[in-house]
Amino acid sequence: MSEIPTYTPRSILVTGGNRGIGLAIARAFAEQGDNVAITYRSGEVPEGLLGVKADVTDAASIDAAFTEVEAAHGPVEVLVANAGVTRDTLLMRMSEEDFTSVIDTNLTGAFRVIKRASKGMIKLRRGRIVLISSVVGLYGSPGQINYAASKAGLVGMARSLTRELGSRGITANVVAPGFINTEMTAALPEATQKGYLDSIPAKRFAEADEVAKVVRWIAGPEAGYISGAVIPVDGGLGMGH
Ligand code: NDP
Repeated sequence: MSEIPTYTPRSILVTGGNRGIGLAIARAFAEQGDNVAITYRSGEVPEGLLGVKADVTDAASIDAAFTEVEAAHGPVEVLVANAGVTRDTLLMRMSEEDFTSVIDTNLTGAFRVIKRASKGMIKLRRGRIVLISSVVGLYGSPGQINYAASKAGLVGMARSLTRELGSRGITANVVAPGFINTEMTAALPEATQKGYLDSIPAKRFAEADEVAKVVRWIAGPEAGYISGAVIPVDGGLGMGH
């Protein structure tokens, strides 16, 4: 009788996994049997996931969160750096605080969690790092100089990680969503939403689950030889960028 292959659950951590795209990503991993932890700052922890409090702008809270996840699920083998914010306004009106606070969450925040996760991954001699960027990182977007700079920075980060940690069995990739139906896009003015719809070849926004499935795949065994890549999930909006 041939043996039925069994899936070995991995320890997954998704930052900002309590809602939006992060929650869809966490659910996609949980669906296939992984042990999934999410970070959250306030509110409820979605059912079936381990919630650990953390603010990515605070290294001590990240360290405490990882310690909790490691105790419950073992060292984090898949890290999804998803937590992100926007503070949109045109350059002339953008304060230095508008700029630095977005960089601190989206870019330095990713650095903080990756640095903490890499310790365990190096010891394990395997790991998957997935950075949630955005189509605007390479495409550009008026009113989002801070956000686009933070998201473009993630590309250089993933590629440098690939060069630094590639020999340790660790991959680092960027997933760059276009417009996804979440609270973040719902907050955009209607005219802006319509403008984007007109320029997206697919003529629709995507659902968070469509991003989640790509993240799950890039962190899975079939994608083991992909590293330093930027995978767009944008209905063709950013083609060539
Ligand atoms: P949401 O605004 O719905 O969720 C953002 C998540 O990030 C929340 O879980 C939030 O936690 C968390 N977060 C924000 N700041 C911090 C912080 N300092 N520390 C810890 N967690 C924090 O966003 P989306 O789901 O739409 O976006 C998720 C990611 O995808 C972001 O990086 C975003 O830039 C990116 N993206 C989104 C697109 C879209 O169309 N929606 C398109 C392209 C990229 P809390 O609940 O505590 O606030």
